[in-house]
Amino acid sequence: MKGLITAVALGVLAACAAEPGADFDVVVANGRVIDPESGLDAVRHVGIRNGTIEMLSETPLAGARVIDASGHVVSPGFIDLHQHGQQDESYRMMVRDGVTSAFELEVGTADVAVWYANREGGQLVNYGVSVGHIPARMKVLGDPGTGLLPAGVGGSGTANEEQMAAMERVLRDGLAQGAVAVGFGSAYTPGAPMAEIERMFRVAADGGAPAHIHMRGGVAGLHETIAAAASAGASLHVVHVNSSGGTNLAEFLAAIQAARDAGQDVTTEAYPYGAGMTEIQSALFDDWESWSDDRFAQHQLVSTGQRLTRETFAKARAEGGTVITHGRPEEQTRAAIVSPLSMIASDGFIESGRGHPRTSGTYAKVLGRYVREEGVVDLMDALRRMTIEPARRLERRTPAMSNKGRIRVGADADLTIFNPATVIDRATYEDASIPSGGIPYVIVGGQVVVDGGELTGARPGRAIRAPISGRPAT
Ligand SMILES: [Zn+2]
Repeated sequence: MKGLITAVALGVLAACAAEPGADFDVVVANGRVIDPESGLDAVRHVGIRNGTIEMLSETPLAGARVIDASGHVVSPGFIDLHQHGQQDESYRMMVRDGVTSAFELEVGTADVAVWYANREGGQLVNYGVSVGHIPARMKVLGDPGTGLLPAGVGGSGTANEEQMAAMERVLRDGLAQGAVAVGFGSAYTPGAPMAEIERMFRVAADGGAPAHIHMRGGVAGLHETIAAAASAGASLHVVHVNSSGGTNLAEFLAAIQAARDAGQDVTTEAYPYGAGMTEIQSALFDDWESWSDDRFAQHQLVSTGQRLTRETFAKARAEGGTVITHGRPEEQTRAAIVSPLSMIASDGFIESGRGHPRTSGTYAKVLGRYVREEGVVDLMDALRRMTIEPARRLERRTPAMSNKGRIRVGADADLTIFNPATVIDRATYEDASIPSGGIPYVIVGGQVVVDGGELTGARPGRAIRAPISGRPAT
């Protein structure tokens, strides 16, 4: 009986705690709340306590901190499935572009436990990683590269049976340590036949993990990759369709749609820039000696901002470094961003102030240029592809994602508050470290990380990790 009374009393307390007038930690007042999961698009007051959205109200709420979001959109924080810049400098740029969770899934890591351990103690945004076929291959084959990508045998070498089994073990161990996906880059590993890729897809399928791939070979390569994923039973995510689709983008998107219509789990993403960026020693440039002279000028060395010639390209290729490659037509970028199939993902990285502007401006550019200025993407649809879709891509293996990418009672309080009339990217190829404008407030885990456009110093970002299922076997 006493137990029953206590339970009733607690129930009353819980009800009181949720009443309007109770003090929330943070209230976001008067904003236009847009939640692409439910379709909500209306003025609401959002009450946040203990890192969670506790109330969505049509009448004002009281809180220790009240942010007046009048005239602003209140969106779920943006979820970036493709972010190589997993360090503070990149996080500082991304969070001011509205990103509250950032994942390195294309390349990933060969040591998931160490990767998470290195970021413990609070970051600006939430973070997570895949276990990657590229780093597993570099490790097993003994690649000399010191960056993210192979610089030799890890890309071009052929693996024997023993080495393939060793790669499978690296992937299985990574999944057991809580990797949220398995990363692939067949474009960077020309020595890996499709049979090897398919074998590694099977490991992903066994772990219920999506396979995120930077694929090779254009439309024909896409058909092979989709077939291999189907055969392995793996969920497939094709990264940056805007670049991998090349001039055959329409055909590329149609193939993805056809696979989806046939019941296969295939998704994709795009970033809104006409130039790519990668390591100059990667396999993508293995044929550089056969290029015509004018092609070199499309390449810009990130460390200096200098456009290259045959001579300076040769020098940089020998020394290593990162290069931006210009030349994709704007119609191709726009078509990739307009497609309802494309999640928005940055593929960003910045270090010592130098990098690609997509690190700092991807989300504001989609909202400012393609939604507002050109009117070619609907706001709700853009936000859907920045929030709920990436959350859904990961949540089957990583249940923590089912509380992200949404504005509903009980969801994690990761929120991005922007002015739809002014939001815009400002970073350029010459200076990638200029933060986006028109995003005055960003909240991560219920704490205000961006306040009036400036960083507050709060570091509430936490690891996002799949359930850890065992000690590594090796
Ligand atoms: Zn990438």
